Amino acid sequence: MSMKITPFTRHHVILLITLAVTLGAVVDSPAEAAANPSDFDRSKARAPTPLIAASLPAPQRFALIAAFKTAYRRAYESESCRRLFEELEISAAGALAASHYDRPAAAAIRAHCQKRVGAVTSVRSRHIHLCPGFETLSRNDQAAILIHEALHTAGLGEWPQDLEAPTSRQITERVKLACSL
Ligand SMILES: [Zn+2]
Repeated sequence: MSMKITPFTRHHVILLITLAVTLGAVVDSPAEAAANPSDFDRSKARAPTPLIAASLPAPQRFALIAAFKTAYRRAYESESCRRLFEELEISAAGALAASHYDRPAAAAIRAHCQKRVGAVTSVRSRHIHLCPGFETLSRNDQAAILIHEALHTAGLGEWPQDLEAPTSRQITERVKLACSL
């Protein structure tokens, strides 16, 4: 499956919010599962420990650790999942390992963490702010959010800040399809 993703090279500070998108059944291709994990060598099949700020509440921390393992594993196993990152000229392993997770400031929670918003970041920022309620989402939805945010870290823009980029929902749907989440 071909994914058209528009890299966004200009840095901007507008926060991007990520809604949790729950899709119906996702078809997993057997060919994907057998794909050679190109940018992960065998020793990297295990996810590294995610970078987590001390401010992140314990329930979110535990959810994040489990979801990060799922996200990393999917990228390790799925060529189509890794390709989302390779189109941005970074490895999935590198982008996920670079992500730094914390709790949004109170004002940002009020402004951005409304219903179904799982996380907030900005393009090319390594700082991913997990909204309250992230821990209540399904493991797959959490993992899709982490991959979605890592794509922003890698430079992926988002409509409407970048008029040529996909919407937040489109990005999450692509992630869920490509990464079988
Ligand atoms: Zn986004």
